[in-house]
Amino acid sequence: MTDVHLTIGLDENSEPVSIHDVASGKTKLHCPFCGGPLLAKKGHVLQHHFAHLGDTCHGALTSESLPAFDDFNLRLAAKELEELRGLWESSQQGKYAVPAVTPRLSAMGLFKDNPFRAGGQWEFTHRGKIPVRGLSLNLFGQLHPLLLLEPHETLQIAAAQEPGNTQIQAALLVYRAQLRRLYSTHFYCLQVDADGERLYKIGLTSRQLEDRLPEIQRDLRVHFESVKIEPLLFKLNRGHCERYFKFRYADHNRPVGRLTEYFTFSEAEFKKVLSDLKRMPERQFNEIETKIQRDWWAKEKRRISAVRRGVALAKANGLRLGRPKGSTEDVQTYLAKPANAKIVQLLKAGQTVRAAAVTAGASTRTVQRVKRALATLLDEPDS
Ligand SMILES: [Zn+2]
Repeated sequence: MTDVHLTIGLDENSEPVSIHDVASGKTKLHCPFCGGPLLAKKGHVLQHHFAHLGDTCHGALTSESLPAFDDFNLRLAAKELEELRGLWESSQQGKYAVPAVTPRLSAMGLFKDNPFRAGGQWEFTHRGKIPVRGLSLNLFGQLHPLLLLEPHETLQIAAAQEPGNTQIQAALLVYRAQLRRLYSTHFYCLQVDADGERLYKIGLTSRQLEDRLPEIQRDLRVHFESVKIEPLLFKLNRGHCERYFKFRYADHNRPVGRLTEYFTFSEAEFKKVLSDLKRMPERQFNEIETKIQRDWWAKEKRRISAVRRGVALAKANGLRLGRPKGSTEDVQTYLAKPANAKIVQLLKAGQTVRAAAVTAGASTRTVQRVKRALATLLDEPDS
């Protein structure tokens, strides 16, 4: 829950569209929550977002933001954040462990009890180090994908419990669309020598770096006479780390006009930054992330509605689909086809699927289908 704005609208086919893929101004998109028309706001101050033409609806106002990307509060209240920062400072002053934390902070997984320290002392967890900019980029890169999935899981459970609740369904769709976009972005770091000053640029892109470089060169030439760019690092599907870099190294930010992605470090400082970034492992997508990335649910929905349309059409044309329950007639007809009959013979003779496919000159897929059909027949009780 957040004051972060809506970044996903729906097109005329109810497909989600990201703010990043539309031009600023009027759109033909509508709000996933209330259906109201949307305006794309792509200015230089606020994060790009969709605004309602009228009042912002409740669904859009309360839609889930991406944790540790849209903001770094991890849902802590201002007072709790303050407490966390205080504890971080005292832990940094040579103490490391923290004598006591409020139950809420520990319940949120921000601290862990260290049993090896006398007196039951607490330590910051990786999660706890995020709001205080204390976690390395390498470790952030490993933890952040799990944080991003937490609201998804909550929404998925809520959506399953209330399939008729359009607000929850919209919230899930919007959150997934945000994740999907983020998953396909990459992280890069460049060294820039501009009029004798050394800057470092980091960025997030869904394209290849070679496509971005001329644009970056052009942007910089507005501010500098001589510009030399050297790519230092490109991390595939690691765009999710970009905002944390900006947050962690906010003190090193060096604005170039309106550009906010430039930083200055001493040579020694930057050596550490770069080696931290380099240690970050290659991004591996787990099963649920792969589903989100491939938009599995949307494809499934389209497939089901296509089947439904087909059934409706067939009914309208007076056709009967499928075989009546309990009847084996269709299976028998299928197996009796000359090509299939031969496969049946081979399978009954004990040949493997692969061998039967070779002998019969059929695909293993066909043989498997015949084998399954045969099995349903054998499972049927004698009539
Ligand atoms: Zn709305």
